[in-house]
Amino acid sequence: MVSKPPTEDVDETDLDVSEPKDWAAGLPGVAVSLRRGVEQMGVVRTARTLRLLNQREGFDCPGCAWPEPHGHRKVAEFCENGAKAVAEEATRRRVGPGFFAEHPVSELAERTDYWLGQQGRITHPVLLRPGATHYEPVDWPTALSVVADALRGLDSPGEAAFYTSGRTSNEAAFVYQLLVRSFGTNNLPDCSNMCHESSGAALAETTGIGKGSVTLADLTEADLIVVVGQNPGTNHPRMLSALEEAKGNGATIVAVNPLPEAGLLRFKNPQNARGVLGKGTALADEFLQIKLGGDQALFQAIGNLLLRWEDEAPGTVLDQDFIDTRSEGFAEYAEHVRALDWAEVDTATGLDRAEVERVARLFAGSERTVVCWAMGLTQHKHSVATIREIANVVLMRGMIGKPGAGLCPVRGHSNVQGDRTMGIWEKMPEKFLAALESEFGVAVPREPGLDTVGAIRAMRDGRVKVFMAVGGNFVSAAPDTAVTEAALRSCALTVHVSTKLNRSHVVHGEAALILPVRGRTERDTQDAGDQFVTVEDSMSVVHRSQGRLAPASDMLMSEVELVCGLGRELFGDGHPVPWVELARDYDLIRDHISRVVPGCADYNARVRQPDGFVLPHAPRDSREFTGTRDDKAVFTANPLTVLRVPEGRLLLQTMRSHDQYNTTIYGLDDRYRGIKDARRVVLVNPDDLAALGVPDGTAVTLVSEWAEDPTGTTERRAADFRVVAYPTARGCAAAYFPEANSLIPLDSTAEGSNTPTSKSIVIRLEV
Ligand code: SF4
Repeated sequence: MVSKPPTEDVDETDLDVSEPKDWAAGLPGVAVSLRRGVEQMGVVRTARTLRLLNQREGFDCPGCAWPEPHGHRKVAEFCENGAKAVAEEATRRRVGPGFFAEHPVSELAERTDYWLGQQGRITHPVLLRPGATHYEPVDWPTALSVVADALRGLDSPGEAAFYTSGRTSNEAAFVYQLLVRSFGTNNLPDCSNMCHESSGAALAETTGIGKGSVTLADLTEADLIVVVGQNPGTNHPRMLSALEEAKGNGATIVAVNPLPEAGLLRFKNPQNARGVLGKGTALADEFLQIKLGGDQALFQAIGNLLLRWEDEAPGTVLDQDFIDTRSEGFAEYAEHVRALDWAEVDTATGLDRAEVERVARLFAGSERTVVCWAMGLTQHKHSVATIREIANVVLMRGMIGKPGAGLCPVRGHSNVQGDRTMGIWEKMPEKFLAALESEFGVAVPREPGLDTVGAIRAMRDGRVKVFMAVGGNFVSAAPDTAVTEAALRSCALTVHVSTKLNRSHVVHGEAALILPVRGRTERDTQDAGDQFVTVEDSMSVVHRSQGRLAPASDMLMSEVELVCGLGRELFGDGHPVPWVELARDYDLIRDHISRVVPGCADYNARVRQPDGFVLPHAPRDSREFTGTRDDKAVFTANPLTVLRVPEGRLLLQTMRSHDQYNTTIYGLDDRYRGIKDARRVVLVNPDDLAALGVPDGTAVTLVSEWAEDPTGTTERRAADFRVVAYPTARGCAAAYFPEANSLIPLDSTAEGSNTPTSKSIVIRLEV
């Protein structure tokens, strides 16, 4: 029986805190998957939908970007959070015209993200006219003409910004960037600007390609896996199966994180007897509870020790042949790291030197090392330098371009990597832009566009007047909530292409549109018949995805259809891009992709292979580094950053609960961390609470402090939080996003990637 959406909003007085778990998944994970599925979809639809999830003939999970195994797939090839993501999309709850007539936008703006998301699938395009109090239904021609008219009315194409979330398919992303560039701008901010931009920047510079170099097989063949700044149990749960397999093959696993996350410690695989009946598999052999932002110092320390041991026993630690023949910059790097100040390492990491040395010994003795990381590393001021430092250690050991070894940034949203491959980037290389221009005969601008932070600044300052987003929940994903909200409210028109209601719909421009689309789970029938789309996972595997459910409403378009419809409306029939034909048959889009996007030749045939195909990656495939300036891997010498927190302050990171994926809130429990029925909590080490004189459970306002803010706003406040004593690293606190995003200054960003520094915010607790 499908349950009704909540009428009342969240009541946080019911907060219940218990001991954090020291294992992940198991039967509770299965139970929650089924319960959430049945609540949203009913029994039959739950069974029918989950059967197709991540299967070759089915659809790709709309959750994270973890890859499917090559060859055999299990009957249940998904995790608890994948099942929750599907339940949210395939829900039977509906938000139709009656809902919008009943609820003024001002009332909806008072609701939480959770309440809004739980109302169900949007069934009709709706328009909020200037000065109106309610969204009203409109037909598609009207909706598309409102957007086209607003774009045509701008003084220049640069007055519009076009955001993309990481769920958008390759086909939709390709036609979207084509539309934006045909319109005359590269203003293509995306969610990657806020998550793995630092990984892309550092890897492109050091290896020549901004993507990870490992396959799933590499992970299971590695003898040493180091997982840094990542919580796979919640954010990439099927990674635990790969870690378990690696462990079975004899791998040593090292976890480096400020919080002792359950999924790093032990995995109870619900698909085997040991997971169901026994204790499961212990994962991390070493757990380094590092301070926030201390990872750069850790990897410099490891580099220092490896150099020292090589000096003591030449030819035993470094891969000198690799260094000599395939890299450059080693001498400068070695000189820099040999001069390391160990007292600074102690301060930055909070680790014992003995544990740093133990882990360095593991690196020195490993034949096949993989280093994985996620957003714990990418959202600091010195994130690019930190990832360069990981690359240094991996390169000095020659751990790239051979089986069981490499660099593995683990991406978040399911197609965030594919969107980039398809051209969703404000600064695509000239080669891509020239190919696009030649393929379609349209003029493509060369001036770099706005990224996410740049787009918010431009809206705030009145330089961008139309904001369009394909997917996502921009207001809740972005930093500095008050500034981002004011920026969107200052637009003449905000347009959101969405499946469900979210906060960005109720924090709107003078006029606003919600354009509802089909989801991954749903059938997409066009004039040429049923269509499929393609996606790229975190390990560069491109494969097909085809939904089978009937769409939530017959008023929904597919994203491809919508973008092409807008192209036709904006440019008219005489335009060189055949918008109408592209929407009829996605094979035509894929033919263009095969001629424009590097590595995608013969795209239509290769995505029809059972497991799709793997995009080329020169360092992985042939130990070539053709994307760097001199075609060699690049060592870098990076000044050490030590985050210093004033007396009486804490360093805060934002994080996800186990009941959310990015900005989508599935529920109010964070099961592994023992938090129930609340989200406005701040996790603080008990010793820090004692030192601060703040008892566990105290109601506090979080106040962030950033003296360098160019706007002069040195303090930001987030009220109504409750303190939870938790075994975080000393001096480090954690709170969920989006609730804590209001504390992140817009202009506090990573050097070299412009990613907001969501993992290192200086705060004080105000009682
Ligand atoms: S691991 Fe990621 S892709 Fe796989 S089912 Fe879970 S959420 Fe979906």
